[in-house]
Amino acid sequence: MSYIPVIGLEIHAELLTDSKVFCGCANEFGGDANTRVCPRCSGLPGTLPILNKQAVVLAARAGLAIDGRVNNYSSFDRKNYFYPDLPKAYQITQFENPICTGGYIEIDGKKLRIHHLHIEEDAGKLVHDDYEGISMADYNRCGVPLIEIVTEPDFRSVEEVQKFVEQMALRLKYAGVCDAKMEQGSMRVDVNISIMPAGSTVFGTRAEIKNLNSIKAIGRAIEYEIKRQSEILDSGGTVVQETRRFNDNHGDTKALRSKEEAHDYRYFPEPDIPPVFMSDEEIDTIRKSMPEMPNKRFLRYTQEYGLTAEEANLIVSDRAFSDLYDECCFEGKCYKKTASLMLVGLNRLLNDTQESVSDIKFGASELSKLASLWDENKINSNSAMEILERMFRSGGDPAEIAEKNGMIMTDNTDELSGIVDKVLSENADAVEGYKNGNAKLFGFLMGRVIAEVGKSANPAAIKKILSEKI
Ligand SMILES: [Zn+2]
Repeated sequence: MSYIPVIGLEIHAELLTDSKVFCGCANEFGGDANTRVCPRCSGLPGTLPILNKQAVVLAARAGLAIDGRVNNYSSFDRKNYFYPDLPKAYQITQFENPICTGGYIEIDGKKLRIHHLHIEEDAGKLVHDDYEGISMADYNRCGVPLIEIVTEPDFRSVEEVQKFVEQMALRLKYAGVCDAKMEQGSMRVDVNISIMPAGSTVFGTRAEIKNLNSIKAIGRAIEYEIKRQSEILDSGGTVVQETRRFNDNHGDTKALRSKEEAHDYRYFPEPDIPPVFMSDEEIDTIRKSMPEMPNKRFLRYTQEYGLTAEEANLIVSDRAFSDLYDECCFEGKCYKKTASLMLVGLNRLLNDTQESVSDIKFGASELSKLASLWDENKINSNSAMEILERMFRSGGDPAEIAEKNGMIMTDNTDELSGIVDKVLSENADAVEGYKNGNAKLFGFLMGRVIAEVGKSANPAAIKKILSEKI
């Protein structure tokens, strides 16, 4: 039988705060075990949590980045469970009143809805030493601020899920909320998946796959689950509601725990943290400080600037790159030429040198001037790329570089006519061949003239004179 998957996501993202969510310990990745802990985040009795305001602001920014509603009132709850990576034996989270509700990300014209977004603290890490047969606890990650974004079960394909997660990571990066480095675990995805017969509207029993940490792993885990659950249903069995772990080496999922063994978390309101009130004015101030999101930029680039979808996607995929492009375009309005300089020339130079946009030696204003020189036909495309490289290596003003190196294109008709005449007389055979129907020889002759003229060659002017004379 053929089945349709029904998929919902829970995305955990670490917030880019300076300190942890309820104490003053540094919020950094890595470091020696248990070097960033204090009585509060290691859960010693008698300590009290103090909520980090920066975490609240970043969570609100995340909500706005996905077009959600930031709530005026939110509060914290205790989720009780015992596990050695959680020294307090409870996690502080938002259960009843999350900070944000609703929102969506549109993928290929389909709105994939978000149920809510809440703040919670991360747990520590267990390091298992198989040789010694012991497990050690590292509490550096205890109390690192997280947001959890819970979607509606709106996804029906791997592709939708993958594009959504990519767009989510990009939005969180644009908003300065999370660095979304999945390989370092700063963004992790849980997938809830069930299948139903094609044509049905009744959802099946779902399995939850925990902690997927790459776009590829998400795709493989979903595909494996669709196959596993289809085989169960086809053979007359029933899918069990359970939590499963994806094994990246084997490409399969294994059961961790079933619903019968599921925890009763005994949620209750956290008595040590007062509720959070945010006024409409405070929320508005945060809204005004948000950058334009990549989906809006994509529309502006394709609809107003005339870029192709591929060009626009490449530019928005990195905020610093896109910011630079915007700054150039606001100054010079040479949308296509600026895009070519950045996507062809600058990208290659950045790749070759392993540098990032922040290392670039020239500013938006120089890049914009260079695009204008090219756009106004003062220099040809080869020169534009050569000047870009010179600017990249040692800075400088594009017009000066062009002057100094004889790159300003000549449209002196008398001079060009002389050179064309010379090339035609020196290449009589090619001229003859062209006249006998070998059209390709026109390009050969063009090349000869351009070589004679040098860097100031104006291909359009040369083409015109050559066509007239041949
Ligand atoms: Zn601490």
